[in-house]
Amino acid sequence: MNREEIFDGLRQSPKVDVCVLGGGINGLSVFRELALQGVNVVLVEKHDFCSGASAALSRMVHGGLRYLENGEFSLVRESLVERDRLLRNAPHYVGPLPTTVPVFDVFSGIANGAVRFLGLSRRPSRRGAVVIKAGLAIYDFLTRKRALMPRHEFRGRRSTLGRWPALNPAIKNSATYYDAWVSQPERLGIELLQDGLSAGAHARAVNYAELKLTAPGRYAVRDTIGGMEVSIEPTLIVNATGGWIDIANQSLFSGPARPAPLMGGTKGSHLIIDNDDLTRALDGHMIYYENEDGRICILFPYLGKVLVGSTDIRVDDPETVRCETEERDYILQSLAFVLPTIKVRHEEIVFQFSGVRPLPASKDSFTGRIPRDHYCTFVETADADTADGGPPVLCMIGGKWTTFRSFGELAADFVLERLARPRRVATADRAIGGGRDFPADREAWITRVTAATAISPTRVATLFQRYGTDAERIAAFIALAPDMPLPHPGYSTREIQLLIRSEKVEHLDDLLLRRTTLAITGELSLEMTDAVLALLAAEKHWSAARQAQERARFLTLLLERHGVDEDMLSARNEQRSALCETTARSG
Ligand SMILES: Cc1cc2nc3c(=O)[nH]c(=O)nc-3n(C[C@H](O)[C@H](O)[C@H](O)COP(=O)(O)OP(=O)(O)OC[C@H]3O[C@@H](n4cnc5c(N)ncnc54)[C@H](O)[C@@H]3O)c2cc1C
Repeated sequence: MNREEIFDGLRQSPKVDVCVLGGGINGLSVFRELALQGVNVVLVEKHDFCSGASAALSRMVHGGLRYLENGEFSLVRESLVERDRLLRNAPHYVGPLPTTVPVFDVFSGIANGAVRFLGLSRRPSRRGAVVIKAGLAIYDFLTRKRALMPRHEFRGRRSTLGRWPALNPAIKNSATYYDAWVSQPERLGIELLQDGLSAGAHARAVNYAELKLTAPGRYAVRDTIGGMEVSIEPTLIVNATGGWIDIANQSLFSGPARPAPLMGGTKGSHLIIDNDDLTRALDGHMIYYENEDGRICILFPYLGKVLVGSTDIRVDDPETVRCETEERDYILQSLAFVLPTIKVRHEEIVFQFSGVRPLPASKDSFTGRIPRDHYCTFVETADADTADGGPPVLCMIGGKWTTFRSFGELAADFVLERLARPRRVATADRAIGGGRDFPADREAWITRVTAATAISPTRVATLFQRYGTDAERIAAFIALAPDMPLPHPGYSTREIQLLIRSEKVEHLDDLLLRRTTLAITGELSLEMTDAVLALLAAEKHWSAARQAQERARFLTLLLERHGVDEDMLSARNEQRSALCETTARSG
């Protein structure tokens, strides 16, 4: 269903069961849950799907080792269960991540940990080997029945430096355990959306749209691209706007009895670094370490580069957050602390990103100690729990990316109870998108799809890595008509056209930042940007002026939010030409 069809449908029949506000991972999760139960649901996202915190995470799918010291045992247990489900339900995007913790002390943190656990102090402190060992033993205990990944092991100083010689020589020993990572969280969000939409015409979703209060308790959906506006009469609203939750709540109520603040977000930034010495120094592991100030930082190999982060700074408005110079310096300083011999030059930072953790409101002066758990509540005003006589608003507060399924399930159960509707479908063991029918034998799968589509096995393998088993549908589409190469060797015109047609792409940044990993991996050149823009313009019948506007919008966004300027993109044209020449000469 395209935008016009969605707005036409609502015009004809404005009554819906649920309007979900926010298309981050949690909004998409509750949308999918409700769609699968046959609930008439409309999701309204102000920007693009998964463009807020759900595009800014550290890309860890984890239990949260450090939440143990805050006493959040049930969150860690739930997160580990969800982590293991994602390893099974989305194996195309979620994989095991060996994680090594360099340890600088033996006994530090024990007294402090106990004091903190008793609520007597919130101050961060160094964590010694005994504390880390205790945490990892709990991790192993919580996963003992499933045991999808190896148990933790400790290494002495000599053996640690033998394997990771670039680590700070001040270490005493190290611990290695297993968690998981997600390669393309934004694409996984799109696949959740598609799973929901495929449940039937009762499930609709629109990006670049807002829910507007038109009179007390009355609402309209406004299309911020085409300007269409249509009244909507939801029985219930779900506020899944993450870091925007209080701002969104304010916009839903007109009277003086505004809801109390629920959120207290903190900003976190990351860098993507292209440095071979750094990649080699990690030897395939994530390094999960404590910076000199006691804050936990991470770095791990990410799609051919290295992801390093992050910061933790209180913010009120998530709208314009970006990685500031001081944050970049902090991250580089933390890197220099853990790997002192690795020198990173500024031009090796190929991308940076920032987002707001949607944490529950808290007065804690140490941001790392704010609880990471999630909960749902119907918003209360001073008068009643209904918005000016309008529908009740269920708010989703907090939540990690890892727990999106269980959080969506929890919110959906609240909704189903209010609507007096039964749950028909469970999602705990339901594969997501290209994780469905995932083959045990990857090579046999590639051979079969190659034979069926006559597309080269290398290209099918690339598509499989990018889309999981959805690659079969994409390969079949590519094979249907003549295809053309693009300035990036891994992509072709038909693939990009299919993404535009089937994944609600409205702007160039949707394609280059979220439907593909071109920008985040530092592989995007100016030539590729223009080639993709030309395809998008042809699909959308854009005028030259609209194309120019779209190009300017994207380049500004890339510079302001991701630290990538036009010169960097042009330089990548040259790098690519040089690479092609070398390949041609050696061939
Ligand atoms: C720096 C950082 C690192 C993190 N690392 C990890 C990690 O490694 N692992 C992990 O599990 N979790 C991690 N998290 C947490 C995780 O990213 C978030 O908890 C999760 O993505 C939140 O999803 P969400 O859908 O609630 O919010 P968001 O993804 O922010 O989505 C909210 C959406 O609501 C939309 N919106 C706002 N206002 C309105 C409105 N009025 N109407 C309609 N739409 C609106 C926004 O545009 C946005 O798309 C991290 C978070 C950050 C910031």
